[in-house]
Amino acid sequence: MTLLAGEWCVSYSGSVKRPHPIPHATKLAVVAVLSLLPPSSVVRRAAAAESATALTNLVVETNFPSGSGKVIEINQDERLIKLEPSSHEGRGWACWWYVRVSGFEAGETISLQVGRAPWATPERAAFSSDGETWRQTAAGERNGAWITYRHKVDAPVAWFAWGPPFTPRDSEELIHFATAANSQAARYELCKTRDGRIVPALKIGSDDGSGTAGVWIQARQHAWESGSSWVCRGLVEWLVSEHPRAVQLREKAIVSIVPVMDIDSVAIGAGGKDQTPHDHNRDWTDQPHWPAVAAAMKEIAQRNQNHKLDLFIDLHNPGASTTRPFFYVPPRKLLSAKRERNLERFLATARAEITGPLPFVGETRESGAGYDKRWQAISKNWVTMNTQEHVVATTLETAWNTEHSTTDGYRSVGQQLGLAIERYLRFNPRDEIAQETKPGQHER
Ligand SMILES: [Zn+2]
Repeated sequence: MTLLAGEWCVSYSGSVKRPHPIPHATKLAVVAVLSLLPPSSVVRRAAAAESATALTNLVVETNFPSGSGKVIEINQDERLIKLEPSSHEGRGWACWWYVRVSGFEAGETISLQVGRAPWATPERAAFSSDGETWRQTAAGERNGAWITYRHKVDAPVAWFAWGPPFTPRDSEELIHFATAANSQAARYELCKTRDGRIVPALKIGSDDGSGTAGVWIQARQHAWESGSSWVCRGLVEWLVSEHPRAVQLREKAIVSIVPVMDIDSVAIGAGGKDQTPHDHNRDWTDQPHWPAVAAAMKEIAQRNQNHKLDLFIDLHNPGASTTRPFFYVPPRKLLSAKRERNLERFLATARAEITGPLPFVGETRESGAGYDKRWQAISKNWVTMNTQEHVVATTLETAWNTEHSTTDGYRSVGQQLGLAIERYLRFNPRDEIAQETKPGQHER
């Protein structure tokens, strides 16, 4: 039997018992009688709810932080749920989905059919049987704009998502972990959002001494790109550890980290990308719309003025067909000789350290006027145009549609990014450029 569930299903959370099958003729009779009653009738609504409950074995819920999913159809016989991301008017692309499924028994195989390609349909979905530990399903089967994941669940409840979720609570817990693990780490509040939420941030390292280097790391200007927060988590875990090179980096630099910039969109499960009036990574202007962007710009400008800024890295996930991490770099024509020297050095250290399972093999792309008409409002371009000429600003795009795009894979990229930053800062980016190494004068 096929039940057209509609959106009511997403918040249904009653206790579920396997119902006795209701003969088709009986269902039609019930529908016919009920249809004689006015729509507002208590009897009609109660009967409809009871009928729906009885027919619904599988239950889909999204009423939790970052939840998203509009149920289109549940086929109880085939144990198949068809859904697409919830739409949030004006809140960006509908590509993120994250649902809790119950109403089945441990050991059953559940099928999840999700659309639409390409943004909402990773080759493998993220899956959890405890809501905390995330793994991947097997590769799904594509049919047009839809993909079907079949997964045998070893528990009576399961969570499925576009990728491993990283919620506002995860951001707070990461920061709590860091401050508990290391006395050089401190939590602070970047700002309060337009919807009244706190954007938590982390500062790691010493802020004294004129030689202190400065690093700014941020993730999730685009809310759906949850993998970027996992990269951020890997970096934080490494940076507060006793790894000798993490200790060295903490002694040399102060590192500011924002694990989730667009916390409002992440909280409600909206995509965020291209939201109204524009998304966070098109907002770096004289009059930013988003408080997190305004606060980040202010702090970065202060640190630049105080000679405490060397490196800015914005963490993202790219398009569906990308299989390896790459960096977006500012248009080369914006770069002074010193900034270009430093960018090349940073890319070389990233290539040396980000070695897999998601390796950076040297690919870069420019995002200038030909990329987007608001290119000057992209964060790394704004930083490039508004900081001292030794500062490197770049965007790391970590591939999300691979078998390594897991919590462990992302965290490896974050840890390796930390190693790259440590190696990069072994040389002083503020050193004057040597005459004989100016770009264009010699082969590099
Ligand atoms: Zn992005």
